[in-house]
Amino acid sequence: MEVRRTVPVKLNVADSDANLLEETISEFLWAANYVVDHAWKGEYKTTSKAELQRETYDDVRAETRLQANLVQNARNKAADAVQSVVTRWKQGDYAGKPHFTAPTLVYDKRCATFNDDHATLSTVGGRITAEYVLPDEGRETPHSEYLFNDDYEVTGGELHYRDGEFYLHVRTKADVEFETADDGNDEHRTVLGVDLGIENVAVTSTGTFWNGSELNHWHREFEKRRGSLQQRGTRAAHETIQSVGRTETGRYDHFLHTVSKQLVAEAVEYDCDVIAFENLTGIRERMPRAKKFHAWAFRRLFEYVEYKAEVVGISVEQVSPAYTSQRCSKCGFTYEGNRPTSSGQDVFECLKCGYSPHADYNAAKNIGLKHLRSAQTSSGGGAPVNVRLNRGTLNANGDYEPASTGQNGSPRESPTLTEANGEAVSE
Ligand SMILES: [Zn+2]
Repeated sequence: MEVRRTVPVKLNVADSDANLLEETISEFLWAANYVVDHAWKGEYKTTSKAELQRETYDDVRAETRLQANLVQNARNKAADAVQSVVTRWKQGDYAGKPHFTAPTLVYDKRCATFNDDHATLSTVGGRITAEYVLPDEGRETPHSEYLFNDDYEVTGGELHYRDGEFYLHVRTKADVEFETADDGNDEHRTVLGVDLGIENVAVTSTGTFWNGSELNHWHREFEKRRGSLQQRGTRAAHETIQSVGRTETGRYDHFLHTVSKQLVAEAVEYDCDVIAFENLTGIRERMPRAKKFHAWAFRRLFEYVEYKAEVVGISVEQVSPAYTSQRCSKCGFTYEGNRPTSSGQDVFECLKCGYSPHADYNAAKNIGLKHLRSAQTSSGGGAPVNVRLNRGTLNANGDYEPASTGQNGSPRESPTLTEANGEAVSE
C-alpha cells in the first residue's frame, strides 16, 4: 500500500536568493488571494479549478512574475480553500472567506527539483539552488529514513518561511509491503475508532461490523404491537405495554452488552489504549433515519463500553463528528460528493483518489484519526497516537504503519451478532 511522509528540511540559501524566495512567496500569496476574490464574486462560489484557471490565469500571469506552474499551484490552493468553505456551509457550519497570510508556497516537480542534498526552486527571478541543512550522518532521522531512501519517491514540497529561515517540507511516498516496516514501538498510543449507525450498530477502524438488523427488527415489531395495544386503550392493554416494554428493553440490553463486550475485546486484541466514538450529542439530527430508540441504544452502548473498558485500563472518548462521513480516510479529501446517495448508503467513494471502502468503515477510521489529531494538539508533543486498522495503524498525518508480525487480525467472528466484513483493508 502507499505510504506518505513529509520531511521538513532547513534550507541554506544565499542572501540574494533569500530575497527572491520572499518575493516569490509574497506574489504566490497575492495570486492565491486574487483567485479566492474571483471565486467569491458571485452568489455561487466558483470551485472548479478549470473554470478558475480560465478566468484568472492571464490576469495572474500579467500581474506577477510567477512561472506558469506556480500560478497553477496558487490557483489550486485557492480552489481547495473555497471548496472546503462551501463544504462547511453545506454542513451548516460557519466559515468565512479564505485569506492566505502564512508565508508558504507550493512546489511540485515541474517548478522544483529535489536532490539528495539540495533543491532547485523556481522563483520570480529564475531558478535558485537551496542547500539542505541536514543532521549529522549516521543518526537515524526522518531524512535518512525517507528522503534518502530509494523506496520513497519525492512528490513535491511546500516552502515555509519561519523566524528568518526557509524550510522545505518535502513530500514523499512509497509502496510498502505489510511485513517491511514494523517499528515495534510500544510507546505509541493506539486508538480504536468506532462509527455508530442504524444498519450497522457499530463499525470499528479494524473493519469489524456489528449488524443492527436484528435490533431494528425487534424494535419495529415492538412498536407495531405497542401501537395496536394503545389503540385498544384499556387498562389491561396498558399493563401489557409496560410488561412487553420491560422484556424488550431486556432484550436490547442483552444485545448491547454483547456488542460492548466484543468491542472492548477488539480493543484489547489490537492493543488499543483508547476507544473513540463520535460525540453522541445531536446524533439524531445528523442521522435523519435514527429514532429516539437509536439514540438511546447508542448512549447505552457507549456507557457499557466505557464501563467495561475501564476495567481493562482502556479509556473511552468522544470526538466531534464533523465531516467523518465525507472525508476520505485515505487521502484526506473532504467533499460532500464523496458520499453519493444515489448508489446506496453503504458506498463511500473518494472523488479525488478513488478509494472506495464501506462508508461506515471509512467513518470509523476518520473518528480514530480525529481523536489522535486532538490528542496530539492538546498534549503538546505527548506520545504519538495511532489509529488501529485491521492490519496496521494510521497516524495523524495519514501515514499507514503495518501491524507487527503475529498480530495480523482478522475480523471478529460471532455467529449471531457480528457480520465479519470481507472488505480488504489494504490501503
Ligand atoms: Zn481519497
